[in-house]
Amino acid sequence: MTKTALVCGAGGFIGGHLVRKLKAEGYWVRGVDIKEHEFMPSAADEFLLLDLREEPNCQAALRLGDGTFDEVYQLAADMGGMGFIHTAECEIMHNSALINIHMIHNAAQMGVPRYFFSSSVCVYRDMKPGEPEMTEAEAIPANPDNEYGWEKLYAERMAMAYARHHDIKVRIARFQNCYGPYGTWRGGREKAPAAICRKVAEAEDGGTIEVWGDGTAIRSYTYVDDMIDGIYLLMHSDLEGAVNIGCPQYVTVDELVATVAEVAGKRIHIRHVEGPVGVQSRNFSNERIYSLGWRARYYLKDGIARTYPWIEEQVRAARGG
Ligand code: NAD
Repeated sequence: MTKTALVCGAGGFIGGHLVRKLKAEGYWVRGVDIKEHEFMPSAADEFLLLDLREEPNCQAALRLGDGTFDEVYQLAADMGGMGFIHTAECEIMHNSALINIHMIHNAAQMGVPRYFFSSSVCVYRDMKPGEPEMTEAEAIPANPDNEYGWEKLYAERMAMAYARHHDIKVRIARFQNCYGPYGTWRGGREKAPAAICRKVAEAEDGGTIEVWGDGTAIRSYTYVDDMIDGIYLLMHSDLEGAVNIGCPQYVTVDELVATVAEVAGKRIHIRHVEGPVGVQSRNFSNERIYSLGWRARYYLKDGIARTYPWIEEQVRAARGG
């Protein structure tokens, strides 16, 4: 029997890549999103345009013939980089919470056996540079830096409550920053790696780009293929509770710029400007996902080498040549 999967948020960056992975693994896949994918045709067998803030739409997404799906991957969220996260606080808390409330409730009611929820390391408090690794359990007591993190924490707990009281297995990943081709690269929702790639692509050799903050904020960036491998492994594992997935290489924002400039073959100067930066530092344990055999295959330079050419091509096309 062919396995069936529902991917919510299939018109987005990670969801679009996940559909391809599931197709490659032999699944029959339905993708659902409020919009079509901007940058690639969906690989799903069926793609439904639905607003998942509406409960009947969640039920329609989950219904397959007389039953439901073997696996549901819930990635739909109102989402963006730091600029978006710090301005659209009400939209994020309202829209993403509605999606998550209706999706887990109806998945449990309809008898979905396995449910994946995409959380974020934004659930953790800020850290100081040099602090030891934080484990998943240390998200509590909670003090996320932004409302996006609080909504994720609530949605995680709600999904785990349904797993305790219904016959549904829930798997939760806390993603570190994810990047790669076919993701948002302009318009205000793009995240740091895509924004820096765009700015470098737009700059002349020897030019200057503006970077928010003082350039010292520490992050890890996970290439999308690694993230997809992690999602797939976790979904088919017995690991309960939240699981961090992230590349173990931590860099400052200025080091991210230097890596992009190196890949682009350009000399780039940085002008630090006021802007939303988010937390100062990150350092998370990967022991839980490592226990499944997962390892990051792409460190920053390799991932940027696979991402920058795509963004450069978009910049060139947008300029009309
Ligand atoms: P994305 O914005 O590209 O994808 C999210 C998708 O959800 C979008 O296509 C959007 O249209 C869809 N969506 C929003 N509202 C909807 C609605 N009402 N009904 C149906 N669909 C709706 O983001 P992404 O980077 O692919 O992220 C996927 C998931 O991973 C999200 O839950 C996000 O919070 C989480 N995450 C991503 C990162 C990252 O670095 N990209 C990091 C941590 C967590």
